[in-house]
Amino acid sequence: AASGEESDVVVIGGGPGGYVAAIKAAQLGLKTTCIEKRGALGGTCLNVGCIPSKALLHSSHMYHEAKSSFAHHGVKFSNLEVDLPAMMAQKDKAVSGLTKGIEGLFKKNKVEYVKGFGKLVSPSEVSVDLVDGGSTIVKGKNIIVATGSDVKSLPGVTIDEKKIVSSTGALALTEIPKKLVVIGAGYIGLEMGSVWNRLGSEVTVVEFAPDIVPSMDGEIRKQFQRMLEKQKFKFMLKTKVVGVDTSGSGVKLTVEPAAGGEQTVIEADVVLVSAGRVPYTAGIGLDAIGVETDKGGRVLVDNRFMTNVKGVYAIGDAIPGPMLAHKAEEDGVACVEFIAGKEGHVDYDTVPGVVYTHPEVASVGKTEEQVKASGVAYQVGKFPLLANSRAKAIDDAEGMVKVISEKETDRILGVHIMSPGAGEIIHEAVLALQYGASSEDIARTCHAHPTVSEALKEACMNTYDKAIHM
Ligand code: FAD
Repeated sequence: AASGEESDVVVIGGGPGGYVAAIKAAQLGLKTTCIEKRGALGGTCLNVGCIPSKALLHSSHMYHEAKSSFAHHGVKFSNLEVDLPAMMAQKDKAVSGLTKGIEGLFKKNKVEYVKGFGKLVSPSEVSVDLVDGGSTIVKGKNIIVATGSDVKSLPGVTIDEKKIVSSTGALALTEIPKKLVVIGAGYIGLEMGSVWNRLGSEVTVVEFAPDIVPSMDGEIRKQFQRMLEKQKFKFMLKTKVVGVDTSGSGVKLTVEPAAGGEQTVIEADVVLVSAGRVPYTAGIGLDAIGVETDKGGRVLVDNRFMTNVKGVYAIGDAIPGPMLAHKAEEDGVACVEFIAGKEGHVDYDTVPGVVYTHPEVASVGKTEEQVKASGVAYQVGKFPLLANSRAKAIDDAEGMVKVISEKETDRILGVHIMSPGAGEIIHEAVLALQYGASSEDIARTCHAHPTVSEALKEACMNTYDKAIHM
């Protein structure tokens, strides 16, 4: 540790992968040190990712509901307005409360917290440039690289976090842009686009690929895109950005069809670059000690999260696999279980994915396209939210549930939900996949009425038999 004593486990990075690994390691009785450069724990997720984005999604949803839906529900008032500084302050308070919470958990579990930039100098030593000045060497029998990821930049588009922002800047705008252009139709772009769209921005999403969120089931994606268009999102698909001019008061973007062709210029007050994330693995001493990475810079690990260098492990966004906080956490727990001589387990095939728009879109397992490509005979059951009593009662009935199961055994292969609260409902399906359940297993499980979860039950009934309510 910083005191010069050797730790059993040294974690570089205090994000959901790193801090969870550190706490779990300490709980398993290992002497643990966690090094974090940002001056706050929680990583991308807590500081500039999952948590602040969900805070703003919730606040902007409340405003939007008040503006567009309250009157239908018989709730009337005048003088509705957005107080952006207050909205940002509530987000910041949520973030700082949670980062302090992790510091408290470190103390409780006796994880030593070193604030600084860590660099591997040998397979058992990390040199740290301390945030408060000076440097130190932290020694460990095992080292876990949990350095996460960073915004992917686009050639020729310089992020200044004012007019051309990354997701980090989009979480902290000081004014509501009249026109927002989002480059990249992945879940981060659509979530941040939703925030500003609800607060009044005109949002145009430019995407190189022919589809939004390419990982999504095609049928759900089509409905999702229609729903976003109804919310006044504009999409320019199969389109690439070829030039950016920030010399005027706003931004002028030159775009052209992905396949080449006539150029057009679109104007924006703010441009959000959300074209993906890249592992943060350069400049941290991996080359110096011979740790292998792939072409994209991801650290290569075996099924026990060990790199090719004995005693050096890697987890989370820094390695291949879904770049999600909960996956990073699972990696972290399994990795230290292996280090402690126990068994660990993460199944990347049952990692759920959620887009926190309204309604939410959540999925687990395979899309219909993937099942088809695998050649397995399958059956599909669907259920529209319009036929779900709770969704109708609250007048929030846009969306559907889709269940795909193996024809022969009815074992569930994939579940896709677009509904209010889909990100909560999906876990029933995650559990089903984890335990190899059939659609009939879910259909014969009693679900409380009236709940949106019943739409999943009925979609399952429709998979192996027939639903009641359609
Ligand atoms: P990170 O969270 O990136 O943490 C790595 C940490 O290591 C950082 O704090 C960094 O400062 C530190 N570090 C790096 N190098 C060093 C070094 N050399 N020395 C010391 N410290 C170092 N995922 C979800 O699951 N759900 C969501 O809703 C969601 N929303 C998101 C919204 C946005 C806007 C963004 C950008 C991301 C979102 N993500 C979401 C993705 C999620 O944030 C990441 O998958 C997750 O944070 C990865 O965890 P990690 O621990 O691997 O890395």
